Amino acid sequence: MSQTPTRADFDQYMVPNYAPQQAIPVRGEGSRLWDQQGREYIDFAGGIAVNSLGHCHPTLVEALTEQAGKLWHLSNVYTNEPALALARSLVERTFADKVYLCSSGGEANEAALKLARRWSHDHHGEHKHRIVSFTQSFHGRTFFTVSVGGQPKYAQGFGPVPGGIVHGEFNNLDSVRDLIDDDTCAVMVEPMQGEGGIIPATPEFLQGLRALCDAHDALLIFDEVQTGVGRSGSLYAYMQYGVTPDILTSAKSLGGGFPVGAMLTTDRIAPAMAIGTHGSTYGGNALASAVALAAVEFIDTPEVLAGVKHRHALFREHLEAINQKHGVFREIRGMGLLMGAEMAPDYRDRAKDILPLAIEEGLMALIAGPNVLRMAPSLVIPETDIAEGMARLERAVARLVAGQ
Ligand SMILES: *Cc1c(COP(=O)(O)O)cnc(C)c1O
Repeated sequence: MSQTPTRADFDQYMVPNYAPQQAIPVRGEGSRLWDQQGREYIDFAGGIAVNSLGHCHPTLVEALTEQAGKLWHLSNVYTNEPALALARSLVERTFADKVYLCSSGGEANEAALKLARRWSHDHHGEHKHRIVSFTQSFHGRTFFTVSVGGQPKYAQGFGPVPGGIVHGEFNNLDSVRDLIDDDTCAVMVEPMQGEGGIIPATPEFLQGLRALCDAHDALLIFDEVQTGVGRSGSLYAYMQYGVTPDILTSAKSLGGGFPVGAMLTTDRIAPAMAIGTHGSTYGGNALASAVALAAVEFIDTPEVLAGVKHRHALFREHLEAINQKHGVFREIRGMGLLMGAEMAPDYRDRAKDILPLAIEEGLMALIAGPNVLRMAPSLVIPETDIAEGMARLERAVARLVAGQ
Protein backbone atom coordinates (compact mmCIF):
# COMPACT_ATOMS: atom_id res chain seq x y z
CA MET A 1 0.00 0.00 0.00
CA SER A 2 1.20 3.51 -0.72
CA GLN A 3 1.98 5.94 2.09
CA THR A 4 -0.61 8.47 3.21
CA PRO A 5 0.18 11.79 1.47
CA THR A 6 1.35 14.67 3.66
CA ARG A 7 1.61 18.44 3.23
CA ALA A 8 5.35 18.00 2.56
CA ASP A 9 4.42 16.11 -0.60
CA PHE A 10 2.90 19.31 -1.93
CA ASP A 11 6.27 21.05 -1.87
CA GLN A 12 7.99 18.00 -3.32
CA TYR A 13 5.63 17.05 -6.13
CA MET A 14 3.42 20.01 -7.03
CA VAL A 15 4.23 23.03 -9.18
CA PRO A 16 4.66 25.85 -6.64
CA ASN A 17 1.87 28.15 -7.85
CA TYR A 18 -0.20 27.76 -4.65
CA ALA A 19 0.57 28.04 -0.94
CA PRO A 20 -2.04 25.79 0.69
CA GLN A 21 -2.68 25.70 4.45
CA GLN A 22 -0.90 23.01 6.43
CA ALA A 23 -4.06 21.03 7.29
CA ILE A 24 -5.30 18.53 4.70
CA PRO A 25 -9.07 18.03 4.92
CA VAL A 26 -10.11 14.46 4.19
CA ARG A 27 -13.86 14.45 4.79
CA GLY A 28 -16.75 16.89 4.61
CA GLU A 29 -20.40 16.88 5.53
CA GLY A 30 -22.63 19.92 5.15
CA SER A 31 -20.66 22.92 6.42
CA ARG A 32 -18.17 20.93 8.50
CA LEU A 33 -14.84 19.42 7.45
CA TRP A 34 -12.34 17.13 9.16
CA ASP A 35 -8.60 16.98 8.49
CA GLN A 36 -6.11 14.09 8.58
CA GLN A 37 -5.73 14.51 12.35
CA GLY A 38 -9.50 14.44 12.89
CA ARG A 39 -9.67 18.18 13.68
CA GLU A 40 -13.02 19.69 12.77
CA TYR A 41 -13.60 22.96 10.89
CA ILE A 42 -16.63 25.06 10.02
CA ASP A 43 -16.57 26.07 6.39
CA PHE A 44 -17.29 29.73 5.57
CA ALA A 45 -15.09 29.45 2.44
CA GLY A 46 -17.14 26.97 0.43
CA GLY A 47 -14.20 26.04 -1.80
CA ILE A 48 -14.17 29.72 -2.96
CA ALA A 49 -17.91 30.12 -3.54
CA VAL A 50 -18.18 26.69 -5.17
CA ASN A 51 -19.74 24.29 -2.64
CA SER A 52 -23.19 25.85 -2.95
CA LEU A 53 -24.84 23.04 -1.01
CA GLY A 54 -21.95 22.32 1.35
CA HIS A 55 -20.04 19.06 1.25
CA CYS A 56 -21.55 15.78 0.04
CA HIS A 57 -25.12 17.07 -0.08
CA PRO A 58 -27.38 14.01 -0.51
CA THR A 59 -29.10 15.49 -3.60
CA LEU A 60 -25.78 16.00 -5.38
CA VAL A 61 -24.34 12.66 -4.23
CA GLU A 62 -27.44 10.97 -5.62
CA ALA A 63 -27.26 12.79 -8.96
CA LEU A 64 -23.54 12.00 -9.28
CA THR A 65 -23.71 8.34 -8.32
CA GLU A 66 -26.80 7.67 -10.40
CA GLN A 67 -25.15 9.16 -13.48
CA ALA A 68 -21.83 7.45 -12.64
CA GLY A 69 -23.49 4.08 -13.12
CA LYS A 70 -24.97 5.07 -16.49
CA LEU A 71 -22.65 7.14 -18.66
CA TRP A 72 -19.74 9.51 -17.97
CA HIS A 73 -18.48 11.02 -21.16
CA LEU A 74 -19.07 11.02 -24.89
CA SER A 75 -17.36 14.16 -26.26
CA ASN A 76 -19.37 16.48 -28.47
CA VAL A 77 -19.40 14.04 -31.35
CA TYR A 78 -22.58 12.92 -29.53
CA THR A 79 -24.88 14.85 -27.26
CA ASN A 80 -26.26 13.47 -24.00
CA GLU A 81 -29.42 13.72 -21.89
CA PRO A 82 -27.97 15.48 -18.80
CA ALA A 83 -26.34 18.22 -20.93
CA LEU A 84 -29.58 18.83 -22.84
CA ALA A 85 -31.61 18.88 -19.63
CA LEU A 86 -29.17 21.34 -18.02
CA ALA A 87 -29.22 23.65 -21.05
CA ARG A 88 -33.02 23.62 -21.17
CA SER A 89 -33.25 24.28 -17.45
CA LEU A 90 -30.89 27.29 -17.67
CA VAL A 91 -32.79 28.70 -20.66
CA GLU A 92 -36.16 28.31 -18.91
CA ARG A 93 -34.87 30.07 -15.78
CA THR A 94 -33.04 33.02 -17.40
CA PHE A 95 -32.99 35.60 -20.23
CA ALA A 96 -31.02 33.16 -22.38
CA ASP A 97 -32.08 31.19 -25.44
CA LYS A 98 -28.86 29.23 -25.93
CA VAL A 99 -26.19 27.67 -23.70
CA TYR A 100 -22.56 26.65 -24.25
CA LEU A 101 -21.24 24.21 -21.64
CA CYS A 102 -17.63 23.95 -20.47
CA SER A 103 -15.68 23.03 -17.34
CA SER A 104 -14.65 26.24 -15.54
CA GLY A 105 -15.27 29.94 -15.14
CA GLY A 106 -12.21 30.93 -17.12
CA GLU A 107 -13.35 28.77 -20.01
CA ALA A 108 -16.87 30.22 -19.89
CA ASN A 109 -15.38 33.73 -20.07
CA GLU A 110 -12.99 32.76 -22.84
CA ALA A 111 -16.02 31.54 -24.81
CA ALA A 112 -17.95 34.75 -24.03
CA LEU A 113 -15.10 36.97 -25.21
CA LYS A 114 -14.52 34.94 -28.36
CA LEU A 115 -18.25 34.96 -29.12
CA ALA A 116 -18.43 38.74 -28.70
CA ARG A 117 -15.40 39.25 -30.95
CA ARG A 118 -16.73 36.84 -33.56
CA TRP A 119 -20.29 38.24 -33.57
CA SER A 120 -18.98 41.78 -34.00
CA HIS A 121 -16.54 40.65 -36.68
CA ASP A 122 -19.30 38.91 -38.62
CA HIS A 123 -21.83 41.75 -38.28
CA HIS A 124 -19.66 44.84 -38.38
CA GLY A 125 -16.14 43.91 -39.52
CA GLU A 126 -12.62 43.45 -38.20
CA HIS A 127 -12.39 46.96 -36.70
CA LYS A 128 -15.08 46.28 -34.07
CA HIS A 129 -13.00 44.26 -31.63
CA ARG A 130 -12.32 46.51 -28.63
CA ILE A 131 -13.21 45.20 -25.19
CA VAL A 132 -13.94 47.39 -22.18
CA SER A 133 -13.43 45.89 -18.75
CA PHE A 134 -12.60 47.25 -15.29
CA THR A 135 -9.67 47.70 -12.96
CA GLN A 136 -9.61 45.17 -10.12
CA SER A 137 -11.92 42.83 -12.06
CA PHE A 138 -11.21 39.11 -12.25
CA HIS A 139 -12.30 36.89 -15.11
CA GLY A 140 -10.05 33.80 -14.94
CA ARG A 141 -6.50 32.70 -15.67
CA THR A 142 -6.43 31.91 -19.37
CA PHE A 143 -4.26 34.39 -21.23
CA PHE A 144 -7.26 36.19 -22.78
CA THR A 145 -9.12 36.37 -19.46
CA VAL A 146 -6.12 37.62 -17.43
CA SER A 147 -5.67 40.30 -20.08
CA VAL A 148 -9.30 41.39 -19.83
CA GLY A 149 -9.13 41.13 -16.02
CA GLY A 150 -8.12 44.30 -14.23
CA GLN A 151 -5.25 42.99 -12.09
CA PRO A 152 -2.16 43.47 -14.29
CA LYS A 153 0.04 41.26 -12.07
CA TYR A 154 -1.75 38.18 -13.41
CA ALA A 155 -0.83 38.98 -17.03
CA GLN A 156 2.72 40.24 -16.54
CA GLY A 157 5.74 38.18 -17.48
CA PHE A 158 3.99 36.05 -20.06
CA GLY A 159 4.90 37.97 -23.19
CA PRO A 160 2.73 40.15 -25.42
CA VAL A 161 -0.88 40.37 -24.24
CA PRO A 162 -3.84 40.25 -26.63
CA GLY A 163 -4.60 43.74 -27.93
CA GLY A 164 -7.72 45.89 -28.04
CA ILE A 165 -8.50 45.71 -24.32
CA VAL A 166 -9.08 48.81 -22.14
CA HIS A 167 -10.00 49.17 -18.48
CA GLY A 168 -12.42 51.66 -16.94
CA GLU A 169 -13.14 52.28 -13.29
CA PHE A 170 -15.79 50.07 -11.68
CA ASN A 171 -18.95 52.00 -10.68
CA ASN A 172 -17.74 55.05 -12.64
CA LEU A 173 -19.86 55.46 -15.75
CA ASP A 174 -17.94 58.53 -16.93
CA SER A 175 -14.79 56.41 -17.20
CA VAL A 176 -16.68 54.10 -19.57
CA ARG A 177 -18.05 57.00 -21.63
CA ASP A 178 -14.43 57.99 -22.29
CA LEU A 179 -13.47 54.49 -23.45
CA ILE A 180 -16.43 53.09 -25.38
CA ASP A 181 -16.88 53.83 -29.08
CA ASP A 182 -18.24 52.22 -32.23
CA ASP A 183 -15.20 49.93 -32.39
CA THR A 184 -16.14 48.43 -29.00
CA CYS A 185 -17.46 44.89 -29.35
CA ALA A 186 -18.13 44.15 -25.67
CA VAL A 187 -18.17 45.42 -22.11
CA MET A 188 -17.38 42.69 -19.56
CA VAL A 189 -18.30 43.27 -15.92
CA GLU A 190 -18.99 41.41 -12.68
CA PRO A 191 -22.32 42.61 -11.18
CA MET A 192 -20.44 42.40 -7.91
CA GLN A 193 -16.65 42.31 -8.01
CA GLY A 194 -15.56 39.20 -6.13
CA GLU A 195 -11.78 38.85 -6.10
CA GLY A 196 -11.58 42.65 -6.36
CA GLY A 197 -12.98 43.08 -2.83
CA ILE A 198 -16.72 42.17 -2.73
CA ILE A 199 -17.91 45.41 -4.30
CA PRO A 200 -21.50 45.43 -5.61
CA ALA A 201 -22.18 47.45 -8.74
CA THR A 202 -24.64 50.29 -8.28
CA PRO A 203 -27.90 49.88 -10.23
CA GLU A 204 -27.16 53.14 -12.09
CA PHE A 205 -23.80 51.77 -13.20
CA LEU A 206 -25.19 48.57 -14.71
CA GLN A 207 -28.15 50.43 -16.24
CA GLY A 208 -25.73 52.96 -17.70
CA LEU A 209 -23.53 50.20 -19.15
CA ARG A 210 -26.60 48.68 -20.79
CA ALA A 211 -27.49 52.03 -22.38
CA LEU A 212 -23.91 52.68 -23.56
CA CYS A 213 -23.68 49.19 -25.07
CA ASP A 214 -26.99 49.71 -26.87
CA ALA A 215 -25.85 53.09 -28.21
CA HIS A 216 -22.67 51.55 -29.68
CA ASP A 217 -24.05 48.11 -30.61
CA ALA A 218 -21.62 46.52 -28.15
CA LEU A 219 -22.47 43.33 -26.26
CA LEU A 220 -22.86 43.47 -22.48
CA ILE A 221 -21.25 40.46 -20.79
CA PHE A 222 -22.00 39.75 -17.13
CA ASP A 223 -19.42 37.54 -15.45
CA GLU A 224 -21.56 35.79 -12.83
CA VAL A 225 -19.03 33.02 -12.20
CA GLN A 226 -18.87 34.00 -8.51
CA THR A 227 -22.28 35.69 -8.04
CA GLY A 228 -24.36 33.11 -9.92
CA VAL A 229 -26.63 30.21 -8.99
CA GLY A 230 -28.21 31.57 -5.84
CA ARG A 231 -25.08 33.08 -4.32
CA SER A 232 -26.47 36.64 -4.54
CA GLY A 233 -29.91 35.72 -3.20
CA SER A 234 -31.48 35.38 -6.66
CA LEU A 235 -30.61 32.73 -9.25
CA TYR A 236 -28.37 35.31 -10.97
CA ALA A 237 -27.52 38.76 -9.64
CA TYR A 238 -28.71 40.47 -12.86
CA MET A 239 -32.25 39.56 -11.82
CA GLN A 240 -32.00 41.88 -8.80
CA TYR A 241 -30.61 44.73 -10.89
CA GLY A 242 -33.22 44.44 -13.62
CA VAL A 243 -30.48 44.79 -16.23
CA THR A 244 -30.28 42.02 -18.82
CA PRO A 245 -26.92 41.17 -20.40
CA ASP A 246 -26.36 39.76 -23.89
CA ILE A 247 -24.00 37.10 -22.57
CA LEU A 248 -23.70 35.70 -19.04
CA THR A 249 -21.11 33.31 -17.66
CA SER A 250 -21.61 30.88 -14.78
CA ALA A 251 -19.41 28.31 -13.00
CA LYS A 252 -18.36 27.92 -9.32
CA SER A 253 -21.73 27.34 -7.51
CA LEU A 254 -23.18 25.84 -10.70
CA GLY A 255 -21.60 22.45 -10.04
CA GLY A 256 -21.66 22.54 -6.24
CA GLY A 257 -18.09 21.19 -6.31
CA PHE A 258 -18.06 19.36 -9.63
CA PRO A 259 -16.10 21.25 -12.34
CA VAL A 260 -18.57 22.78 -14.78
CA GLY A 261 -19.15 26.13 -16.48
CA ALA A 262 -21.72 27.64 -18.78
CA MET A 263 -22.04 30.58 -21.14
CA LEU A 264 -25.57 31.83 -21.72
CA THR A 265 -26.66 34.01 -24.63
CA THR A 266 -29.52 34.88 -26.96
CA ASP A 267 -30.76 33.69 -30.35
CA ARG A 268 -29.51 36.98 -31.82
CA ILE A 269 -25.89 36.33 -30.90
CA ALA A 270 -25.46 32.56 -30.60
CA PRO A 271 -25.30 31.87 -34.37
CA ALA A 272 -21.86 33.54 -34.51
CA MET A 273 -20.55 30.49 -32.65
CA ALA A 274 -21.10 28.33 -35.72
CA ILE A 275 -19.86 24.78 -36.24
CA GLY A 276 -16.12 24.64 -35.78
CA THR A 277 -15.65 28.12 -34.26
CA HIS A 278 -15.09 26.95 -30.69
CA GLY A 279 -15.27 23.86 -28.52
CA SER A 280 -14.11 21.83 -25.54
CA THR A 281 -13.70 18.06 -25.21
CA TYR A 282 -15.25 18.03 -21.73
CA GLY A 283 -17.95 20.64 -22.42
CA GLY A 284 -21.33 19.14 -21.61
CA ASN A 285 -19.75 16.14 -19.89
CA ALA A 286 -22.61 13.92 -18.70
CA LEU A 287 -21.42 13.59 -15.06
CA ALA A 288 -20.84 17.33 -14.71
CA SER A 289 -24.16 18.17 -16.33
CA ALA A 290 -26.12 15.76 -14.14
CA VAL A 291 -24.68 17.31 -10.97
CA ALA A 292 -25.18 20.89 -12.21
CA LEU A 293 -28.80 20.19 -13.14
CA ALA A 294 -29.46 18.82 -9.65
CA ALA A 295 -27.77 21.86 -8.07
CA VAL A 296 -29.71 24.40 -10.16
CA GLU A 297 -33.04 22.68 -9.55
CA PHE A 298 -32.38 22.47 -5.81
CA ILE A 299 -31.20 26.07 -5.46
CA ASP A 300 -33.67 27.89 -7.73
CA THR A 301 -36.65 27.58 -5.39
CA PRO A 302 -38.31 30.34 -3.34
CA GLU A 303 -37.38 28.53 -0.09
CA VAL A 304 -33.66 28.18 -0.78
CA LEU A 305 -33.32 31.72 -2.19
CA ALA A 306 -35.25 33.20 0.76
CA GLY A 307 -32.95 31.16 3.01
CA VAL A 308 -29.92 32.82 1.41
CA LYS A 309 -31.33 36.27 2.19
CA HIS A 310 -32.16 35.24 5.76
CA ARG A 311 -28.64 33.88 6.28
CA HIS A 312 -27.21 37.08 4.79
CA ALA A 313 -28.98 38.99 7.58
CA LEU A 314 -27.59 36.58 10.18
CA PHE A 315 -24.03 36.94 8.84
CA ARG A 316 -24.38 40.71 8.90
CA GLU A 317 -25.69 40.75 12.49
CA HIS A 318 -22.86 38.54 13.72
CA LEU A 319 -20.18 40.52 11.88
CA GLU A 320 -21.58 43.79 13.23
CA ALA A 321 -21.58 42.38 16.76
CA ILE A 322 -17.93 41.31 16.38
CA ASN A 323 -17.12 44.75 15.05
CA GLN A 324 -18.87 46.52 17.91
CA LYS A 325 -16.66 44.67 20.32
CA HIS A 326 -13.36 44.86 18.45
CA GLY A 327 -13.64 47.70 15.90
CA VAL A 328 -11.64 45.92 13.22
CA PHE A 329 -13.92 46.47 10.23
CA ARG A 330 -14.56 49.63 8.23
CA GLU A 331 -17.50 48.23 6.26
CA ILE A 332 -19.51 45.02 6.02
CA ARG A 333 -20.98 44.48 2.55
CA GLY A 334 -22.01 42.00 -0.09
CA MET A 335 -25.07 40.28 -1.51
CA GLY A 336 -26.65 37.04 -0.37
CA LEU A 337 -23.98 34.67 0.89
CA LEU A 338 -21.05 36.43 -0.73
CA MET A 339 -19.99 38.80 2.02
CA GLY A 340 -16.97 40.97 2.65
CA ALA A 341 -15.71 42.79 5.72
CA GLU A 342 -13.23 45.52 4.83
CA MET A 343 -10.61 46.15 7.50
CA ALA A 344 -10.54 49.42 9.46
CA PRO A 345 -7.56 51.77 8.81
CA ASP A 346 -5.76 50.55 11.98
CA TYR A 347 -5.84 47.00 10.60
CA ARG A 348 -5.13 47.85 7.00
CA ASP A 349 -4.27 44.80 4.82
CA ARG A 350 -4.51 42.49 7.82
CA ALA A 351 -7.53 40.47 6.66
CA LYS A 352 -4.98 37.92 5.48
CA ASP A 353 -3.64 37.63 9.05
CA ILE A 354 -7.07 36.54 10.30
CA LEU A 355 -7.10 33.40 8.11
CA PRO A 356 -4.41 31.36 9.92
CA LEU A 357 -5.84 32.41 13.31
CA ALA A 358 -9.30 31.34 12.15
CA ILE A 359 -7.91 27.97 11.01
CA GLU A 360 -6.42 27.49 14.48
CA GLU A 361 -9.84 28.23 15.94
CA GLY A 362 -11.47 25.74 13.56
CA LEU A 363 -12.89 28.08 10.92
CA MET A 364 -12.21 28.29 7.19
CA ALA A 365 -12.71 31.75 5.66
CA LEU A 366 -11.35 33.64 2.64
CA ILE A 367 -9.95 37.01 1.71
CA ALA A 368 -10.63 39.16 -1.35
CA GLY A 369 -7.36 41.07 -1.59
CA PRO A 370 -5.33 41.63 1.59
CA ASN A 371 -7.82 44.12 3.08
CA VAL A 372 -11.15 42.29 2.85
CA LEU A 373 -12.25 39.23 4.80
CA ARG A 374 -14.54 37.22 2.51
CA MET A 375 -17.18 34.61 3.28
CA ALA A 376 -18.88 32.38 0.71
CA PRO A 377 -20.43 29.52 2.70
CA SER A 378 -22.94 26.89 1.65
CA LEU A 379 -26.27 28.44 0.65
CA VAL A 380 -27.95 26.05 3.08
CA ILE A 381 -25.50 26.35 5.98
CA PRO A 382 -27.34 25.47 9.22
CA GLU A 383 -27.92 28.39 11.58
CA THR A 384 -26.12 26.54 14.38
CA ASP A 385 -23.02 26.34 12.17
CA ILE A 386 -23.27 30.07 11.47
CA ALA A 387 -23.40 30.82 15.21
CA GLU A 388 -20.52 28.44 16.04
CA GLY A 389 -18.44 29.68 13.08
CA MET A 390 -18.94 33.28 14.19
CA ALA A 391 -17.89 32.41 17.75
CA ARG A 392 -14.67 30.99 16.29
CA LEU A 393 -14.22 34.04 14.06
CA GLU A 394 -14.60 36.29 17.07
CA ARG A 395 -11.87 34.42 18.90
CA ALA A 396 -9.60 34.81 15.86
CA VAL A 397 -10.37 38.54 15.64
CA ALA A 398 -9.76 38.97 19.39
CA ARG A 399 -6.34 37.35 18.95
CA LEU A 400 -5.54 39.65 16.01
CA VAL A 401 -6.47 42.66 18.16
CA ALA A 402 -4.42 41.32 21.09
CA GLY A 403 -1.48 40.88 18.71
CA GLN A 404 -1.18 37.13 19.23
C1 LIG B 1 -13.38 32.40 -10.04
C2 LIG B 1 -13.77 33.37 -11.08
C3 LIG B 1 -13.42 33.16 -12.43
C4 LIG B 1 -12.54 32.01 -12.88
O1 LIG B 1 -13.15 30.77 -12.70
P1 LIG B 1 -12.24 29.44 -12.81
O2 LIG B 1 -13.24 28.33 -12.62
O3 LIG B 1 -11.21 29.53 -11.75
O4 LIG B 1 -11.64 29.43 -14.16
C5 LIG B 1 -13.89 34.06 -13.37
N1 LIG B 1 -14.64 35.11 -13.01
C6 LIG B 1 -14.98 35.35 -11.73
C7 LIG B 1 -15.84 36.53 -11.41
C8 LIG B 1 -14.55 34.50 -10.72
O5 LIG B 1 -14.86 34.75 -9.46
